[in-house]
Amino acid sequence: MGFNQQKEVERRRTFAIISHPDAGKTTITEQLLLFGGAIRSAGTVKGKKTGNFAKSDWMDIEKQRGISVTSSVMQFDFEDKRVNILDTPGHEDFSEDTYRTLMAVDSAVMVIDSAKGIEAQTKKLFQVCRMRGIPIFTFINKLDRDGREPLELLEELEEVLEIESYPMNWPIGMGKGFEGLYDIFNNRVEIHRPERYDGERFLPLNENHELEIDHPIKQLSIFDQVMDDAELLLEAGNEFSEEKIANGQLTPVFFGSALTNFGVETFLETFLKFAPAPSAHKTKDEGEVSPYSEDFSGFIFKIQANMNPAHRDRIAFVRICSGSFSRGMDVQLSRESKKIKLNNSTQFMADSREQVEEAVAGDIIGLYDTGTYQIGDTIYTGKEKVEFEDLPHFTPELFMRVTAKNVMKQKSFYKGLNQLVQEGAIQLYKTYLTEDFIIGAVGQLQFEVFKHRMQGEYNTEVIMDPMGTKIARWINPEQLDEKMSSSRNILARDRFDQPLFLFENQFAMRWFTDKYPEVELKSLL
Ligand code: GDP
Repeated sequence: MGFNQQKEVERRRTFAIISHPDAGKTTITEQLLLFGGAIRSAGTVKGKKTGNFAKSDWMDIEKQRGISVTSSVMQFDFEDKRVNILDTPGHEDFSEDTYRTLMAVDSAVMVIDSAKGIEAQTKKLFQVCRMRGIPIFTFINKLDRDGREPLELLEELEEVLEIESYPMNWPIGMGKGFEGLYDIFNNRVEIHRPERYDGERFLPLNENHELEIDHPIKQLSIFDQVMDDAELLLEAGNEFSEEKIANGQLTPVFFGSALTNFGVETFLETFLKFAPAPSAHKTKDEGEVSPYSEDFSGFIFKIQANMNPAHRDRIAFVRICSGSFSRGMDVQLSRESKKIKLNNSTQFMADSREQVEEAVAGDIIGLYDTGTYQIGDTIYTGKEKVEFEDLPHFTPELFMRVTAKNVMKQKSFYKGLNQLVQEGAIQLYKTYLTEDFIIGAVGQLQFEVFKHRMQGEYNTEVIMDPMGTKIARWINPEQLDEKMSSSRNILARDRFDQPLFLFENQFAMRWFTDKYPEVELKSLL
């Protein structure tokens, strides 16, 4: 009753925040949740630190089940929009799931520490967003501290990430002298600590972008300078283009301070204006599924393993691509043409409300999984089979040799290894001649999950011998000559039998390309 699918889809905004650890992702997420009324006080998102959890349906379930990772999906309403924020774990929780989460969002917000600029993890996550061509919005954080010059930060964005930038606002001072923002997009000035002046937070500008009203900020020596600099920058810099934002070719840049909650609300309002609603998803047969289609469809982008050995079940996260999902409905799994009966206890929605409504394209649902699902699986209803494009594989950077501790357990070792690889928990390689098993991951957490699950689900203790970081590069099998293998690289095959080298470092790789210039080295994403 009163449910209008078209309207519901149009008001969805599903995004991820990408950043390097410590740039302020948690702090800004909390501010966003506060604006949306999803939490009542700051400091509740990082459950691990505070012992509190952001309030949401499924996090209680997580708590009961003892699943270690906290806030995977957060949903709230702001103005007329329904917002889904998907968490991209960093630090020790960084894994392929972090990358895959970016397959399930419609836009991304990149948070940068103004003192540090673009850092390694931001760059990696950015590249995945870039590959997808989704809009990327930039929030340059910590302006309440002394950081780098704003212009220098924009230049770095353009040079390092090769993306055009457009300043949506421009800082008036920084650190102790942070007075406010020239809000270019809304043609006004936002005062940092209005209580020091007359309490007015927003000061309107005239059509020549001048502050007509009398205000003490005009007396500051930096004020005119900042306004002039910004005008020059706007004249010389990139033009604002909604089309380029939509294609991910231009990033709107916002300056602010998440900690002092300054510039965050204006950012959220503007971001929600330009961030896209869910759009069509491509299928394997080169078709597309419209988010407004009546039949339900979705794909699994993440499987969260339960680290508690007493609870083997996992949670499969589904991004809904079309139709609507309601509790108790049955779906079809396209990989096996198998019908899956879902009942209320096998599913939950990521929603902060007690009263769960229907979920539509853009929303994320969680399914309890006892081994049914694999990463990239499509589920759907309706007569026509739907199978979404495969999720990409990502180049692992960390490697371990693995063997079964007990030779008698060889069989369950192979079984577990195969299933965990298929499920996307880890990547598997075999050395060329000796056929040793090597597993690869993008984050350490993947190894830990692997070890736990081999023990808990396959009753196999594994010995893992760390090989450290390596650079994995695939080569065309026709160009392969086993003589190319040396002490500085390891020749291996992936599970599709494709040959690759694991290079010790950049130097070893350069040495190789110098020696074999005709051989093309390819990386995954
Ligand atoms: P995350 O690792 O990206 O989630 O970063 P956090 O949100 O946990 O922030 C890392 C540290 O930076 C914390 O100590 C925050 O209090 C601090 N921080 C976050 N935003 C700001 C800001 O705008 N200004 C200042 N001075 N510190 C901030």
